[in-house]
Amino acid sequence: MTSNLSTTLLFSISSSMEEVQQCTLLSIKTGGCSEDCSYCPQSSRYDTGVKGQKLMTKDAVMQAAQKAKEAGSTRFCMGAAWRDTIGRKTNFNQILEYVKDIRDMGMEVCCTLGMLEKHQAIELKKAGLTAYNHNLDTSREFYSKIITTRSYDERLETLKHVREAGINVCSGGIIGLGEAEEDRVGLLHTLATLPTHPESVPINALLAVKGTPLQDQKPVEIWEMIRMIATARIVMPKAMVRLSAGRVRFSMPEQALCFLAGANSIFTGEKLLTTPNNDFDADQLMFKVLGLTPKAPSFHEGEANVSEAESCQEAVSHSG
Ligand code: SF4
Repeated sequence: MTSNLSTTLLFSISSSMEEVQQCTLLSIKTGGCSEDCSYCPQSSRYDTGVKGQKLMTKDAVMQAAQKAKEAGSTRFCMGAAWRDTIGRKTNFNQILEYVKDIRDMGMEVCCTLGMLEKHQAIELKKAGLTAYNHNLDTSREFYSKIITTRSYDERLETLKHVREAGINVCSGGIIGLGEAEEDRVGLLHTLATLPTHPESVPINALLAVKGTPLQDQKPVEIWEMIRMIATARIVMPKAMVRLSAGRVRFSMPEQALCFLAGANSIFTGEKLLTTPNNDFDADQLMFKVLGLTPKAPSFHEGEANVSEAESCQEAVSHSG
């Protein structure tokens, strides 16, 4: 009671605090990726012990979605370790079916499948996709130190296709890659000066994986994460700011500070693609102790946010 009272008082400082969305991210096609993202254990270029697998069957995906829903998730995100989906028509059509069926379960559906062409974005929209995730990862200036197999502009092009298809944009980045503070600002500046703010901004802290070029990076401090979340919240006031990878390293009080700073979504489930995630019971306990309310799914998020996000542009200073 006392702890709920004190957290309620604390949370009253922050306007978007109490409702927190639980999302589940499932790797529906793991490993064997041709890209060279330096942080990623799924790249076939690094010896991380992650083996390339085939696309998961419909039964397995639907079971996982059902389990996520029962555990309180209102958004189900499917990730595939591909550069793009061009030339993968059979797999792409299967994923369209998964999207439709999960949407019919009353959940928001998100995909992250690599780069998309315009017509693919339109097909995903028709299937009922709520959001498409494609992270910018870092600033334009630092980007080439992390990835060489696709350009920053190619990433922005995919975001444009997603936006034009009427799908919500989910795009954020990772801190702890060896970037400078300016690069963190650069990433947020790029996101906040897109023609429309992303509806969703995942903020990840690197979990360095053995075998990747970034295996020796030192862990991100909680204060760095809080600053990044708070800045994202200020420059994109209406976005869902997602406390994403790296959360497993943070204690409950540390996560509470992230929520106070403006995070209003977490990923739940045993794993985040291939890296460990927080324990289900620990997350349930955290919701109870901090007095957080699970956010219901929203199927008009895009329409509502387009006008809100447009007006938010005025709050962001453009570089010219
Ligand atoms: S981050 Fe995505 S695109 Fe990059 S190597 Fe990993 S799975 Fe491939």
